[in-house]
Amino acid sequence: MSKFEVQRVARQFIRMYNLTPAVDLNKAARLVNASIVRGKLPVKFSGTSLPPHKGIPPYDDIDEFIIGVNTNHSKYHQRFTIAHEIGHIVLKHPQECGPIFYSSIENFYLDLYPNERDANIFAAELLMPTAHIKSLVFDKCLRDVRRLCELYQVSKAAMEIKLREIGLTN
Ligand SMILES: [Zn+2]
Repeated sequence: MSKFEVQRVARQFIRMYNLTPAVDLNKAARLVNASIVRGKLPVKFSGTSLPPHKGIPPYDDIDEFIIGVNTNHSKYHQRFTIAHEIGHIVLKHPQECGPIFYSSIENFYLDLYPNERDANIFAAELLMPTAHIKSLVFDKCLRDVRRLCELYQVSKAAMEIKLREIGLTN
């Protein structure tokens, strides 16, 4: 999918459920039939998601998505990870690449793994809707990066990428 198409899907998701920044990700996860499980993983892993599946006896069937988040990362990094995993679910990505996904901000526009790139684009649009942030930055002249990070509950790295994207270079 093109970046624009992914952003459009994210905007439809936001509109359909009346989500507003800072987006309530527990609510967003419930809307896609996902439960969030928090725990410690090796630092290089951001998170993981598992689709609903049949359990092998004696294990129960799992009738919802499970989103796993690495609590070794910062609160804002964890939010990006959850939004990224929600992106995989909404974009209906096949879960063929194993249980471990990564959502490193450094890989934001990496074309090598299109589904990972698309999940990152979805996450960025879900957390920082373009029209919303443009209105704050250009109409209300709010340009303090730390304040914007607090408002949207995102990392400085994610915010700086977004600000460049909307044409604000400093
Ligand atoms: Zn991923």
